[in-house]
Amino acid sequence: MNKVAFVTVASLLSQRKVQLQSAGDSRQIYYKLKSREEHIGDALKNEYDVIIVGGGATGAGVSLACANRGLKSIVLEAQDFASGASSKSTKLVHGGVRYMQQVFQLQEKNRMEKWDLVAEALRERSNFLTMCSYLTQDFPTLIPCKNLFDLGYYYFGSLIYHCVYLYYQTGGHTFKPPRIVGKDEIQQHFKFAKCNYGVIYYDGQFNDARMVQEVLATSSLKGQNMVNYVEIKKLIKNEQNKIIGVEAYDQIAQKQFQIKGKCVVNATGGWADNLRLMDDPTVSKRIVSVAGSHLTMPQKYGSRHWGYLIPKTNDGRVLYMVPWLGNMIMGTTERKLDNAIHDPTVSHEEYMWLLKSFCDEFDVDASEVARDVKSKWSGVRPLVYSSNALTTKEVSRTHEIEVSKSGLISVMGGKWTIFRLMGEQTVDKVQQLIGNNQQRIENLPKLVGDWTQFDHRKEIQVMMTMFDLPQSYAAYFLTTYGDRAYDVLKLIYEKPENKESLHPQFPHTVGEILYQIRYEQARKPEDILFRRTRLGFLDQNAIFTVYEKVFQIMAKELKWSDKFQKQFLKENFEYIRKLEF
Ligand SMILES: Cc1cc2nc3c(=O)[nH]c(=O)nc-3n(C[C@H](O)[C@H](O)[C@H](O)COP(=O)(O)OP(=O)(O)OC[C@H]3O[C@@H](n4cnc5c(N)ncnc54)[C@H](O)[C@@H]3O)c2cc1C
Repeated sequence: MNKVAFVTVASLLSQRKVQLQSAGDSRQIYYKLKSREEHIGDALKNEYDVIIVGGGATGAGVSLACANRGLKSIVLEAQDFASGASSKSTKLVHGGVRYMQQVFQLQEKNRMEKWDLVAEALRERSNFLTMCSYLTQDFPTLIPCKNLFDLGYYYFGSLIYHCVYLYYQTGGHTFKPPRIVGKDEIQQHFKFAKCNYGVIYYDGQFNDARMVQEVLATSSLKGQNMVNYVEIKKLIKNEQNKIIGVEAYDQIAQKQFQIKGKCVVNATGGWADNLRLMDDPTVSKRIVSVAGSHLTMPQKYGSRHWGYLIPKTNDGRVLYMVPWLGNMIMGTTERKLDNAIHDPTVSHEEYMWLLKSFCDEFDVDASEVARDVKSKWSGVRPLVYSSNALTTKEVSRTHEIEVSKSGLISVMGGKWTIFRLMGEQTVDKVQQLIGNNQQRIENLPKLVGDWTQFDHRKEIQVMMTMFDLPQSYAAYFLTTYGDRAYDVLKLIYEKPENKESLHPQFPHTVGEILYQIRYEQARKPEDILFRRTRLGFLDQNAIFTVYEKVFQIMAKELKWSDKFQKQFLKENFEYIRKLEF
């Protein structure tokens, strides 16, 4: 990043704009997003059609659907956006091959439900990748096979999965059919693999917490509001017991305030019962909180491009190994919790089970593997009891939308892959409730950083030349921000000190952090370390190196007083220390 003179950046970007226009490309180069303070300012004076409680995948999906139907909405998130399950997923955009398998199992009672679940998710899988090509990719997954029976079984299973996708196909993204692979090809990708053959099938993959940012940025540019660190404390009702607003607490300004709205959507994931009980203390609980843990391993244990699925571990569960941002993540476990918690710790049993399952499958040295673990993390799946479940054990993986007598719309369960559909279906209910009949937009909305025929390779070349960036850096900015990368780079090149690197092994600089504070509402170091960048998930040691630097950038930008800084460090140090292992 040396040759570009700071003064010339604006003119370079203007030249790029002219270049695009003369090529008939009408996309923007600058996207002026609102600051957190501007969103709060709007919230205090607006009256909304929809107040969305919860800023994870589900809340973001509802916000996008509101934007596309001309409804005015605000997302209120008690912690940071995507700080719940939505930053801790396996990062798969998938139909769920294991549910496909269950459709054909003799003992399976809910065959049709499982079929619908797969069909719906496969349809949305294509939509997901079409909406946001820069943050997603399709990726081959290997199912290792021990014998020819397994090979036939998994090949035909994957073929049916592919046929279901072809039958229900929507969106512009196409996936390749499954194929059989032999030892040589497997060894090229997984040098420690023991299997001789296997089946490759295709699914999608993405960067979950960044996806929330991209969806919210898209909604924001379409006039919607969103604020993090605002918790809903109370639902406000009129004399007819209908909800007309919420009482909220802004943790940053430490102020309570009211927001008026025609209806409230409860998109609080694992916390959905809290709001349902706030609305009506007599309702029965619907959410089952199940924690799932992952480990991050260096890439040498996996492949740069292929995923690996162990279809049956020693206790019958499936285990994924997924290449992600230059590393490999492995998960997940299932551990029932009494209540949803924000950052559940990875239990010793889960940690050992993950390591053991990995070491059983690959030809590796167990103690070396244990030393090489780079990060561990856990999130809570918000599963919903099926309304027709006979016992509490029959927990469905589908989603459900419930409308209470007072008008609280709770959207529960589901998965990341279908966030768009859940948003659309929730807004159908909103419209019935508030008497609005704006039709759904049939064309898929592209997210802010995307555009038709996004040519990644060409764009990376342009960025490398314009900013004298190494290829890996240009690729990082483009696959993280899409077209917004130019806004981020503009800020990085605005002042010499903005180019200062945070960590020698990562592409993050002071300017990028400033962008995340100003336009993505980062308000605590962990917002930057875990969700705006994904450092904490990739390398827990790296966050100890950069925490102080990030803290100082935030303190300066947000004008934190000395007293506030001391208090903040006292309150938050414990949080970071907990992650040390
Ligand atoms: C381990 C694991 C792996 C997964 N893997 C995949 C996968 O590979 N692919 C896939 O498609 N899906 C996957 N999922 C599922 C997916 O991650 C979730 O379905 C999805 O993220 C849920 O999003 P959500 O917005 O409903 O919940 P959350 O992301 O948990 O968001 C709910 C938000 O509500 C906020 N909130 C709660 N109470 C209040 C209040 N009173 N006021 C304001 N805000 C409040 C919380 O702070 C939270 O941020 C996985 C889930 C887990 C846990």
